[in-house]
Amino acid sequence: MQKSIILKTLVHGGDVSLAVIDSTAAVQEAMRRHKFSAVAAAAFGRTFTACAYLCSWLKGENSSLAVTVNGGGPGGKICVAGDSELRMRGFVENPQFSLPPRADGKLDVGGFTGKDGTLTVVSDDGTGVPFTGTSRLVSGEIAEDFSAYFLTSEQRPTAVALGVKVKDKILGAGGVFLQPLPGAGEEAVSYCEEEIAKFGGLSSLIEERGAEGVLKMFTDGPFDRREFSFRCHCSRKRAAGAVLSLGREDAFALIGEEGRIAVHCHYCNTEYVFEKEDVVRLFGEEA
Ligand SMILES: [Zn+2]
Repeated sequence: MQKSIILKTLVHGGDVSLAVIDSTAAVQEAMRRHKFSAVAAAAFGRTFTACAYLCSWLKGENSSLAVTVNGGGPGGKICVAGDSELRMRGFVENPQFSLPPRADGKLDVGGFTGKDGTLTVVSDDGTGVPFTGTSRLVSGEIAEDFSAYFLTSEQRPTAVALGVKVKDKILGAGGVFLQPLPGAGEEAVSYCEEEIAKFGGLSSLIEERGAEGVLKMFTDGPFDRREFSFRCHCSRKRAAGAVLSLGREDAFALIGEEGRIAVHCHYCNTEYVFEKEDVVRLFGEEA
């Protein structure tokens, strides 16, 4: 399977960090699992790509973070989580909700997401003490919402372009991030804003040129390359832990009512089913 990739380098004389992400394969895998409508795929894909960018800065083996976009729109919350190994997963509350395109023909991501709410990032550097950053949504179109997050919550002006092109599948998905390094002047900030304005049609550029082609629009110099994918960390073993946490009495009451216990992982839309014999085995024989 094709991999999603994130490329990073420095541009503008070394005082601006550039990241280019091709998330096509990972967003396609998410769409396959969640059966997204086109507009849900776009809203999710943009959030997922930005979350992968955030995760690419995580340090430490056990560090992780989770992004929630809660705009009060009909699509519901968008939740994406990932870790320092770039194992990314996520879901949309109403994955099949559909909206007609906007007047300009683009998918109505802002209408799907809503803009009356917040973008929240909860990060854990591996010590188990989470840090939460929150900002108000600007438009629900996701890219500007992340720009606002970087500015207000991290005090780092960051120019963000995100795009997802959908037909029956994901044709191109990705992002461009330009962030002045600490100490860079106002001129670097202006450079980032001017450059990002050129990426209105980013998803088509990713589809045609890939991440390397987009990076080469900035520089021919060397760059770092990392791969990532849609990968959930749920398992039948973890699901069994959830069944055990019900306690013997409640678990067998459920078996009595439903005949089975289904544990659903929202993040990857996988259902783990435990029949009576499985539950008997989990709790031991004498039921
Ligand atoms: Zn899962």
